[in-house]
Amino acid sequence: MDLNLSDEDKNFRKEVKDFIKKNLSSEQQKKIKNGGSYTKDETIKWQRALFKNNWFANNWPKTYGGCEWSPMKRYIFDQETAYAYTPQIVPFGVTMVGPVIIEFGTELQKKSFLPKILNSEHWWCQGYSEPGSGSDLASLKTKAISEGNNYIINGTKTWTTLAQHADWMFCLVRTDNTSKPQEGISFILIDMKSKGITVDPIITLDESHEVNTVYLEDVVVPKDNLIYQENKGWTVAKYLLSHERTSIAQVARSKSAIKKLKMIASHEVFDNSPLIDNTRFRDKLTELEMDLHSLEYTEIRILSEEAKGSSPGPEASFLKIRGSELQQKISELTLEAVGAFGLIKSNSYNQDNSNEYFPGAEYANNVGAEYLNLRKTTIYGGSNEIQKNILSKMVLGL
Ligand SMILES: Cc1cc2nc3c(=O)[nH]c(=O)nc-3n(C[C@H](O)[C@H](O)[C@H](O)COP(=O)(O)OP(=O)(O)OC[C@H]3O[C@@H](n4cnc5c(N)ncnc54)[C@H](O)[C@@H]3O)c2cc1C
Repeated sequence: MDLNLSDEDKNFRKEVKDFIKKNLSSEQQKKIKNGGSYTKDETIKWQRALFKNNWFANNWPKTYGGCEWSPMKRYIFDQETAYAYTPQIVPFGVTMVGPVIIEFGTELQKKSFLPKILNSEHWWCQGYSEPGSGSDLASLKTKAISEGNNYIINGTKTWTTLAQHADWMFCLVRTDNTSKPQEGISFILIDMKSKGITVDPIITLDESHEVNTVYLEDVVVPKDNLIYQENKGWTVAKYLLSHERTSIAQVARSKSAIKKLKMIASHEVFDNSPLIDNTRFRDKLTELEMDLHSLEYTEIRILSEEAKGSSPGPEASFLKIRGSELQQKISELTLEAVGAFGLIKSNSYNQDNSNEYFPGAEYANNVGAEYLNLRKTTIYGGSNEIQKNILSKMVLGL
């Protein structure tokens, strides 16, 4: 494995930096560095700028409008955008359902959905989990009954991230109750404007509105929206989940978070004796940095294998476990570093997602909320316990 960047990769890094400078204001970057978040419009604007530069669908083949970056280019892009606090690309369209439509969709489905994912006209959400069906996803109960050219869908989806903004939802539904649970599931695309859909917010511990419950009551969905074959949705779902897990390690974002933590710990507010001078604190910081470095090298090793044509198997689970644990630990140490300034302002939940800062040192904005929010990382995308089960089966053969 060659860890040195080629001249082409070095030039690419510079191109990414220039692109960021051109398309994102320093005020926007500062807002995020200080704990704010991007609005839907800002995110779409960023995604469209990437699309105009042919950089949006970096995991799609060129025939469908993708840019087929090498894994190393994707890695460089992730790193530079994390350091610059750019908006994060919303994964449900371009990273998740896009590759599924490319792999399993009909020509008509490709023609009608892919261009609208590319230009961010459609915002997607993921309707897999249900109350009572998370880890044991195959037990899902949302029912689709065939009626002429349509399905009539009834059921409840939950933890649906950003469904409040979504135009479309890709959804797992039960189309057969008589066979093994995995063999009675279908993968279908649902227009969120359909009659009978209600989206209810779930407000999380950090008082933010990120997830929702989606109720489906006699929702009429054309059979043309079925992806692949009826009762073969489990094959499609598994294909999609492997795409979700490799991108979930968030090494670049963790490196950026460590950089911020060092900045906070070097701050003179702590009695002119910065926390970074404290040996105990420095030990903890060093341990985290070492763990993150090892994860980074592991990720580069996996990317380098991917570049030779192999697709990630159990490695995806490993990256998910270590990446999510580290995200949580960094946020814990950051909270320790900001101390009382990390207190969360009550009632900071805003319907319009605008950023209302609570009083305190500027650098500590949202650190408490971030700490709470990141508890999710070991749960979503398949909980870490489930990833360990996968590893024990695939690697240890247990
Ligand atoms: C912030 C957030 C966003 C999410 N976004 C989405 C989304 O957009 N779309 C979507 O469909 N879903 C989403 N999810 C749901 C997520 O995929 C599920 O929460 C996850 O799969 C766990 O399912 P569960 O919550 O039902 O917990 P359960 O499956 O009930 O698990 C409870 C606990 O038991 C453990 N456990 C369960 N089974 C086993 C086992 N066999 N062996 C060992 N331990 C086990 C789990 O690890 C967990 O600790 C999101 C979740 C969160 C927290």
